[in-house]
Amino acid sequence: MDIDATVVGGGIVGCAVAAELSGRGLTTALLEMESGLAHGTTSRNSEVCHGGMYYPTGSLKARFCVEGRRMLKEFCETAGVGYRECGKLIVAVEEDEIPHLERLLALGQANGVEDLRLVDQAELQDLEPQITAVSGLLSPRTGVLDAEGAARAYARLAESRGAQVMTGARVTQLEKIEGGWQVTITPLGANRAEGWTHTSRVVVNAAGLWADGVAALAGIDVAARGWQLHLTKGNYFAVADAHAGRVSRLIYPVPPASGTSLGVHVCLDLGGQMKLGPDLQKYDHDLREVAGGEAGIALDYSVDPARGDAFFADARRFLPWLERDDLVPAMSGLRPKLSTTGLVDFVVQREEEAELAGLINLMGIESPGLTCGPALAREVGRLVAEMDA
Ligand SMILES: Cc1cc2nc3c(=O)[nH]c(=O)nc-3n(C[C@H](O)[C@H](O)[C@H](O)COP(=O)(O)OP(=O)(O)OC[C@H]3O[C@@H](n4cnc5c(N)ncnc54)[C@H](O)[C@@H]3O)c2cc1C
Repeated sequence: MDIDATVVGGGIVGCAVAAELSGRGLTTALLEMESGLAHGTTSRNSEVCHGGMYYPTGSLKARFCVEGRRMLKEFCETAGVGYRECGKLIVAVEEDEIPHLERLLALGQANGVEDLRLVDQAELQDLEPQITAVSGLLSPRTGVLDAEGAARAYARLAESRGAQVMTGARVTQLEKIEGGWQVTITPLGANRAEGWTHTSRVVVNAAGLWADGVAALAGIDVAARGWQLHLTKGNYFAVADAHAGRVSRLIYPVPPASGTSLGVHVCLDLGGQMKLGPDLQKYDHDLREVAGGEAGIALDYSVDPARGDAFFADARRFLPWLERDDLVPAMSGLRPKLSTTGLVDFVVQREEEAELAGLINLMGIESPGLTCGPALAREVGRLVAEMDA
């Protein structure tokens, strides 16, 4: 085999996986089809390093979120990547929402989320005087970070450990061969003239929105496994600068019962700039043919200004000073969902049968996938080590 491991996808997950595998002494290539790393979902999200209180105890999301938060914070601090532990409040606007906070507290404690506690209205007013709510769940350890910067720092770490990091390099064929995979790379965009083929003992599919297409390249019947990804757009609206500094923590509502999102919340970036988002919007584009085909990779990230009405209605419940005119369309991201209903766990699967051996698939890496990045990478490292044992 030419190399030990090929990682498909240079988002936070692929970059962290490349750092992990090269750190274990494996010759590793990280392949990203875009002209730069982390241009996909990794740069289109709330950039929150989550606590982990929303996910069923024992799920991969709960485990990797709690572990990943600690790992990502430590990594950012060591690598000089922007990180701010600003804290987060989930607020009950009505008395009848308080039991939801109590349930989240119990779930968070069962999941091992640190320092989580309920705050009453008086303390809430003290902490965030510009918020209208009757009670809150405080997560002091929740933070915000420079997500793209973190991904690039993992890629640099991988390179320093000998990994090859290549952009404009799109994986278009995966062929099973004795002892591994033959990987075909087609150049994409201006920064690479030629493609190539190499052989690799292990292939890690960390292709985010395109992970079902990459799994299909390897010969997996994604429909039969329930792995077809349903893309769901999350839109953001910026809040007028005049309101900068009104809140100092991330402010979330009690999450909608559907379990498909955390609800429109107040996001803060590292500089304290405020935006609202993300909502949930069905995205019709079918990407499944694209990973191995000829179609372009343009995705529709436009934000419909009319959606601001719903943002205003949702956020005005706890931001009494907000006016409709304060909201301006800002950005959007796409979630790679395994299901459009309910909360579904990540899939992290090492293929066992002979015709797929050596392939590890990461599917449905939606939120909290940024937070979980380093823990997902460690898990991939463990799966590869098990293979080699
Ligand atoms: C609206 C929104 C808000 C979110 N908020 C948060 C949050 O606050 N906190 C949190 O923890 N998580 C959040 N998430 C989730 C988080 O952003 C993602 O889980 C995470 O970024 C996924 O990273 P990734 O590396 O798996 O995917 P990506 O960043 O999408 O990277 C995959 C990469 O694979 C590349 N690729 C695909 N196919 C190929 C191929 N054939 N060859 C080569 N390269 C290929 C793509 O170009 C892409 O760069 C949010 C997500 C959304 C959409």
